[in-house]
Parts: sequence; structure tokens; C-alpha cells
Amino acid sequence: MADDKYRYLEELERSERIDGANRRKGKRLSPEQRRRNKQRRRRKRILGYIGRVLLLVLLVAAFVGLIHTVMKRIGGNENPDPKPAGSTVTPASEETSPAENVTETPAPTSEPTAEPTAEPTKAPQESSMVRIYGAWTYSTDAQAPDGEIVPESYLMYDYERMRQDIYFLTKRYSDYCEAVSLATTADGREIVDVVVGSPDAEKDLIIQYSIHAREYINTQIGMRHLQSYLQSVSSGERSHIWQNLRIHFIPMMNPDGVTLSQFGFDSVNDPEILANIKTIWGRDNEAGKGDPDSMGYCSRWKANMLGVDLNRNFDIGWETTGGSAAASCTRYKGPSAASEIETQALVKLAKNTNCVGQVAYHSEGNVVYWDYGTTGELYETDSALAEAVVNVTGYRKASTIATDQNLGGCSDYFILVLGVPAITVETGGWYDWPADYEAEWPALYDRNRDVIFALSDFFYNH
Ligand SMILES: [Zn+2]
Repeated sequence: MADDKYRYLEELERSERIDGANRRKGKRLSPEQRRRNKQRRRRKRILGYIGRVLLLVLLVAAFVGLIHTVMKRIGGNENPDPKPAGSTVTPASEETSPAENVTETPAPTSEPTAEPTAEPTKAPQESSMVRIYGAWTYSTDAQAPDGEIVPESYLMYDYERMRQDIYFLTKRYSDYCEAVSLATTADGREIVDVVVGSPDAEKDLIIQYSIHAREYINTQIGMRHLQSYLQSVSSGERSHIWQNLRIHFIPMMNPDGVTLSQFGFDSVNDPEILANIKTIWGRDNEAGKGDPDSMGYCSRWKANMLGVDLNRNFDIGWETTGGSAAASCTRYKGPSAASEIETQALVKLAKNTNCVGQVAYHSEGNVVYWDYGTTGELYETDSALAEAVVNVTGYRKASTIATDQNLGGCSDYFILVLGVPAITVETGGWYDWPADYEAEWPALYDRNRDVIFALSDFFYNH
């Protein structure tokens, strides 16, 4: 009986005379019902296919995403993200690209002045971050002001504020500039070079600020220079210069030292470096150039965090350069010529680009130093360069030879070794530190505001 029933049902199913529901009832269907059932089954089949295809697509996408994340985690430093869309500028040369030097630093905390944390694992979720040129990340929550990004009135302009403003500027003027990390310092900060100029430009000019820690007021000057130059280039006023000259703005050549000078011992990331600084502090106190108050001592700090005066560390007359015998807050030339990361980074940049000039911004005495012992055409060009800056600032023009300045300095190296015109601009500062920057700022800024245009116009024509 049962066999007969199943045979009957199979027969009905083969001939599509009943559907699933009616099968149980064994009910015969009209041709119209059969047609509808057939359509229903076809629709179900098609929907099933679509569902399976969608599921497959989702699985593939998830897999690709997973592989991408893993590859980024593994090889992030070797493969910095490409420039944001719309940007057309590439690094000045392969050698100056951040690829080999950049260590991705953790994102800043909500406090602009806070030091970066030591562990990259503490960084917020990557999905909410923007990575810029592989150098660092910033929260997309951070919004640039509508108007000027770098403030005109003085504030104690620190490393984190500088990076944030560079991030905003490179975003706003992405067609005209890019930020490159030249190196990571001993205590883990980036030496940032903002390059403004066409990849096809024939010449490179280097302007560096705050190689001496306590002279950090010039970092804000440098950032104002960068901003006003970008405004000028993007408005078309100096687009012809942009085509011909790449300007390397290095607003904080010595970020470790500047941070120590501004925030003291608590700002040091590496415990070994901090222990060494405390040893140096004790030694400087004994030598009469310290300060029993740690913050008072740090604020007068001039060297990098390893106690090397970077402006005595360059490989030009280094052997005969005097100063402190051991690491100190000031005047120690280092264990060997060009021993420091900062010095090496600048020399490497100069050698890997078509460097046609260098300007060093210091803060001691309202002077433009030139004349480093050259002759002939270079002597004449250097004199004209100093003159161009004197005309804008009203500063005194002074020969380093006549005033018996030390060798081993950055400008010495550029003009005497690399053979390009170089000057040292000394803003404000009246032989006492820390200078009363707040009081000095208005006049200092006023005098230096247009120096960037004097420099860009000068090197466009020379
Ligand atoms: Zn200086």
C-alpha cells in the first residue's frame, strides 16, 4: 500500500502536476495553477542564485579587507600610503622620500601639546584616522580653521601643534606641497620637511628653523612663512617660482631639543635618554652653567636631547671647533663630525637634491651672518643674499670672519663644503634665555614676515 502511494507521488512530481503543498494532499492541479507554480519555482531559483552570488561577493570583500589590514600591519613602514587624491607633487627625489626613514608615530591625544605615546598600539582605531604621507596620523575630527591655520599672534608653538598645522596646510594646499619626514630623532620625533615646488623644478632651497632648542620662536616664524608662501603660490602670484624652485621648509630642525626646552624632563620618551639628561644636568650644575631648578635648566637647553649642539656638529672645521668637553645643554660639538641624526638628515637632503642655497634661522641678536671665507662669485652671491634679507628685516649684516664665529655650523658647511650661498638669520633674542618671546614676538614677526618672499624671489633669479 505504502509503495503504491510513493510511486504514485513520484509520478506526480516528475510530471509537475502537483506542487510541494499539494503533494501531501495528492491533489490534481489545473494548467493555470501549474503555470503559476512553475513561475514561483523559477523566481525562487533566481532569488537563490542572487543570494548565493551576493554572499560570495561579501565573503571575497571581507577576505580582501582582512589581507589588506594584515599587509598594512606587517609592512606599513615600508609602504607608506600614497598621497591624497588631487595632489600632484612628489618628493624632491627618491632619496628624500620618507620611505626609508619614517617611523609611524602614534596619533596625538586630544591635547595639542601632549607628547606622543610610546606604544603605537595605543593609537585610536585606524578607520577614524587620516594618514598623511606615511608620516603620521591625525583624527579626522580635527578641523582646520576656515581662515589662516598658523596663528599670527605668538603662542608657545610646540611639536604637536606644528604637526597638526602641517597636516592642515598639506591638506588645504595638496596640489602645491607635501610633507616628508627626513628622519626620526633619538627620542622618536620626526624631522619634517614641507616641500613646496614642482617635481620638475630645477632648484632646491633649504630653510631650517630651530636647530637650537631654546630658539624655538622661529618655528612659528617658519610656519607663517610656509603658510604665506603657499597662499602666494596657490593664488598664482608666485606660481612661476613654484615651477622653477622647490623650497624645503624645515620648521623644527631639532624637535627633541625644542620639546625639552618647552616642557622639561616629563617630555622625554626614552628613560635612558632622560637618565643621561639628568647626568648632564648634574655636570652642568658643577660647571656653573646649570640651574638647580630643572625647568629653569631645560628652558635654556640649546642642544639635542643627547646633549650635542647641532650647530657645531657639521663636518667643516669640526676638529678645531671648541666648546664644552662633554655632552651639555650647550656648546658640545658631539663625539665625531656629523655624529647626530639631525645633522645627517640635513646633509643627506642637501646631497640628494639640487640644493642652490640654505638659510638657517636662529635667535640671537638681530643679525644676518654671511661671509664664511669664500671668494669670487660665491662671495658676491652670498653678500647679495644677505643684503636681500637685511633690506626686509632691517637687521645688521655681519661677517662671520670679522666677528670670529665658530666653525662646525650648518651655514659653514653649506657654503664651504657644498659651495652654495648660505646665511644665518638671528631674530630677536638679547643674549638672555629663555627670551621673553611674548614681548618680542610683534617686532620679531613684523621684521621677518616678508623674508620668505625676499628669499623665493632671490633664488628664482639666481
Ligand atoms: Zn642659535
